[in-house]
Amino acid sequence: MVLPMPVLPSARRSALRRRLLAWWDAGHRELPWRFPTGEADPYRVWISEVMLQQTQVAAVVPYYLRFLERFPTLEALAEASEDEVLARWSGLGYYARGRRLRAAAREMLARHGGVPRSREALAALPGFGPYTAGAVASIAFGLEEPCVDGNVARVLARLGCVEGAPEAPATRARLWALAAELVRGPRPGELNQALMDLGATVCGKAAPRCARCPVAPCCAARARGRERELPPARARRAPRRLEVACAVVVQGGRLLLERRPPGGLFGGLWELPGAEVAPGATAPAALAEALALRGLRVRVGKELARVERVLTHRRLALTAFRGSVARLPPPGGQLRLAAPEELPALALSAATRALVEALPASGRPAARRRIREEE
Ligand code: SF4
Repeated sequence: MVLPMPVLPSARRSALRRRLLAWWDAGHRELPWRFPTGEADPYRVWISEVMLQQTQVAAVVPYYLRFLERFPTLEALAEASEDEVLARWSGLGYYARGRRLRAAAREMLARHGGVPRSREALAALPGFGPYTAGAVASIAFGLEEPCVDGNVARVLARLGCVEGAPEAPATRARLWALAAELVRGPRPGELNQALMDLGATVCGKAAPRCARCPVAPCCAARARGRERELPPARARRAPRRLEVACAVVVQGGRLLLERRPPGGLFGGLWELPGAEVAPGATAPAALAEALALRGLRVRVGKELARVERVLTHRRLALTAFRGSVARLPPPGGQLRLAAPEELPALALSAATRALVEALPASGRPAARRRIREEE
């Protein structure tokens, strides 16, 4: 990456570094992927950094622990099936991250024999953007590499009074240049993590707590009274409403599931066979028609359950209808029947899992109690 001219006078840079590291030493957040200086496990650092993208720390911790319990090493992750990885990822969202994690683990072992020790080699792996490569290189290997996520961009925009939307290319380049200057020196991993923590706990989006900020004397936005103006808020598109109808087809006490195509929303996950319902359309008719086009002739019955979820760019509403089929297509392909005891280990999205759990007892598959399969 070509970085523009320096943005900080060196005295201010030194003061900022000193204050950030002193604040880190005085008591940073204890998190399960953080290790004492020099003892970081590159594999764990990497997993945590991928999970933390677009997700709050508190939400990540239980998923991280569950994931590490099943895949404690790079080798265990590389050997796992995609279904196993997605099942442990289930609920974290952005499922492409889970798929790329496994692909990157395989490539790391094949090409480097482990997590590679340079930003360039890391950046060439599936799922590694500049942020993840910089975070792993600095935290796991102590390399002087910057990493700028949303929190860090906000802190840097305020510290350096950098104008412009952080996602605009020129502003982005300036923020990365500022981060690269700051990280130059001892303890780059701790410095990057101090910036992350400052953004998460002190320099908040709407209400920066400047009175409690360890770097307030070095902050240009604070000095000019502009801490609430910078960076400018991003114009948000209203989330698109997505209405989906699903069929609950039970055969022999097992629930019919369909695998989604690999790309796009919930790519590669299992779900109840379903169809998007266009505005003004009738859900049961739209569902029957869409499934018939996929070779599944379903008689759609009464509504059984409904759940709603707010995703980053969508408002998702799933409605489950009882469904019955005269004959299922031959096994294999994108369809499978799953017994109730198999569901916890299957890669379902959190929305599908919630929908299955919301089904009334009469609509669920039951291991011991066969339910009526026809209305
Ligand atoms: S002084 Fe205020 S605006 Fe500046 S970094 Fe600290 S919390 Fe953020």
